[in-house]
Amino acid sequence: MPTGMLREAVIDTGAIEANVRHLRRLTDSELIAVVKADGYGHGAVRTARAAIAGGAARLAVADVHEALALRRAGITAPLLAWLHAPGASFAEAASVDVEFGISSFDQLLQASAAAAVDRPVGVHLKIETGLGRNGIAPAEWGMVFAEAARLERIGKLRVIGLFSHLANAGPEADRAALKGFERGVIAAASVGLQPPLRHLAATEAAIGLPEARLGCVRVGIGIYGLSPFADRTSADLGLRPAMRLHAPVAAVRRVPAGQGVSYGYDYRTARETTLALIPLGYADGVPRQASGRGPVVIGGQRFTVAGRIAMDQFVVDVGDTPVAVGDEAVLFGDPTLGVPSATEWAEAAGTINYEIVTRIGPRVHRTERTP
Ligand SMILES: *Cc1c(COP(=O)(O)O)cnc(C)c1O
Repeated sequence: MPTGMLREAVIDTGAIEANVRHLRRLTDSELIAVVKADGYGHGAVRTARAAIAGGAARLAVADVHEALALRRAGITAPLLAWLHAPGASFAEAASVDVEFGISSFDQLLQASAAAAVDRPVGVHLKIETGLGRNGIAPAEWGMVFAEAARLERIGKLRVIGLFSHLANAGPEADRAALKGFERGVIAAASVGLQPPLRHLAATEAAIGLPEARLGCVRVGIGIYGLSPFADRTSADLGLRPAMRLHAPVAAVRRVPAGQGVSYGYDYRTARETTLALIPLGYADGVPRQASGRGPVVIGGQRFTVAGRIAMDQFVVDVGDTPVAVGDEAVLFGDPTLGVPSATEWAEAAGTINYEIVTRIGPRVHRTERTP
């Protein structure tokens, strides 16, 4: 890593591009690349560019602020945002062609209020199919779909898609949700809404439930090269993890047996040994819950975090291995290259790989490695 750099996440945009290309081929569907939460920590703008280069037709984020940031960066691809502040104005985002996920009658009115003369607002109507988050409930389909159809006829709205989101609670639950979605599609058609897109599947269903693909999939974690399945690795899915988190060893210290390490002395050295200090902590998204468990590779050898992870740093007991200040310590990356995976950190912290990459903090410098 570059001299003088304290913390670095290397983002392999070539991997993102290849992952999108692979998922497009696998699903034989149009792909909406989900780049919310700063591209799951990878950088939304660079992820958007790489995804488009890999064949993504569209992009999606959670909210309008994320969408506007992409537009300001010059991203012109079709772009959907689906989580809205109550009563917020959609005007600015509509003026730069952001499309809105609509989960209620009120949001439909928010969207149509942002229409200008000869400039209908693009919307995707979200159907609630059992996740229990947002989405138009079956009892409201009649009213919301009829009003959407009317607003489309008078040129205020363009209904581009119908969509929903699965609970990934197992194939039975997901198939039941798919059935519910199909009922919503029929209800919309009965009032004249037959939008060109229907999208239901995120990464897990896009890969694992072919009947949920519907010709368009909305993929997040997979484009970053991580597996949403507990029992299948990235490599099993033909994906390459795009983020490598590493830091130089900041200090080494030879200590006797019985030395307490880090806050609370949860760890004590069993014998004379060498401690290496790694300048990454929970402020950088390294989960404190992985204290005493998280894996680290230094010089091709695997070690475990010794004691508690602090805000800015943690310690590794490297025994008698010759480790020097400046050696690269890798927390996670592509495990086919002999380093731990983000999934191993997730297991060490009792969470999921999504959270590990998404929480990498703003102090960590993102360095883009282009193909
Ligand atoms: C985050 C999100 C996705 C992407 O999910 P992955 O599991 O990362 O593929 C898709 N759709 C919605 C509504 C989401 O909130």
